[in-house]
Amino acid sequence: MNNSENIETELIRDCNLVFGTTNLYTILDITEEQKRNLTEDGIKRAYRKLSLIFHPDKNVNKTDDEKETAALKFNCINEARKILLDATKADLYDLDGFLIDEETPEEDNSGDDDDNETAPMDSYQSQDINDEEMDYSSNESDVDSDDYKAFSPDYEIRQLIYGKTKLITFYLNDRSKCYHYYLSKDKRYYCSKRQKENHSCSAILLKRSNGEQYIQMKNDHACEPVDYYDDEIVTITNFEIYQKQIGKELFIFADEDRSHFYQYYYVKQKKCYVCAQCRKNGKDTKAIINPKTRELEAEAFHQCEPQSYIPKIDASKYLLDKSIKGKPLLVVFADRLKKTCFKFHWHKNKSFYICNEKTCSISAKILKSSNGEKFVQMYKEHKCHV
Ligand SMILES: [Zn+2]
Ligand SMILES: [Zn+2]
Ligand SMILES: [Zn+2]
Repeated sequence: MNNSENIETELIRDCNLVFGTTNLYTILDITEEQKRNLTEDGIKRAYRKLSLIFHPDKNVNKTDDEKETAALKFNCINEARKILLDATKADLYDLDGFLIDEETPEEDNSGDDDDNETAPMDSYQSQDINDEEMDYSSNESDVDSDDYKAFSPDYEIRQLIYGKTKLITFYLNDRSKCYHYYLSKDKRYYCSKRQKENHSCSAILLKRSNGEQYIQMKNDHACEPVDYYDDEIVTITNFEIYQKQIGKELFIFADEDRSHFYQYYYVKQKKCYVCAQCRKNGKDTKAIINPKTRELEAEAFHQCEPQSYIPKIDASKYLLDKSIKGKPLLVVFADRLKKTCFKFHWHKNKSFYICNEKTCSISAKILKSSNGEKFVQMYKEHKCHV
């Protein structure tokens, strides 16, 4: 499990614990009404108001319990603010909420089973309330072109699946290298790598009086350009769609012998599948079933490498049980005679099973193929010994 997943898991758990919701807008006390015309300033104002209540400095005279709750709340509003102020993260959040499934088995209704998690306080950092982590001027509610350079590089606006657009600029007249930008709610195109490389390069699309379009850039790239490619859409035949308790997963195999695959989640709001690894790398690589042809069409270019495919574990090699505490337990047999096994406990926040070994983070999901057959799927090789 990578670090950002850990932070997200902790955030989801903490938000549920102290606010009873994972809706970041609700947590920041932003109403539906306010959400519609939300500016960066609005988010910061909402955060500042609550930070005056929950900041540790404001809670020094409280009981230990109250201090702890306030610290957790402060951490939640701080993380919520960071996500909503980051154009890329906010778009992903608005699109799909957190990247977890909402499925929860009926048996599980308590939240204390996350034994493998680190303490939530690890991620807490004291900070100055007035500290603004903004990388660009905040007093503008609309695009203000004054601080954009009049420099207009060669560019391309590309249509993506579902009517969204992307901007591509070329690197120093070299059309084999380019930068990608995604359109944000504030009408600016942000460099796709700004999060990873921590820079604030953006562009705006403008029109001259003669109707001609051009772009203006703000700030230089701290990132390297990527190879130029066509967002080719290809028809896929080597794939499987699996049903989960709620939602679907798509495996697109990268080679004939099915040794590698790309894992896609179904994203309800977009009515399409999105590559899970690409999404972690800041790129939405989509696939859809064409409603007319019933064929699977997918964007060919990935920002990720295909993963090794781990063969499925069929019903004869696993069973579902309950732990002594009554929690759901997945038992995967390690030998034919079923004398040895691995145990996986249910990870409520992530909606999958996770190996009981403290040092192991291998997850397992129960999926159903189109013929109704259920099986256990792991996504990485399980290296635990019995
Ligand atoms: Zn960049
Ligand atoms: Zn991918
Ligand atoms: Zn394990």
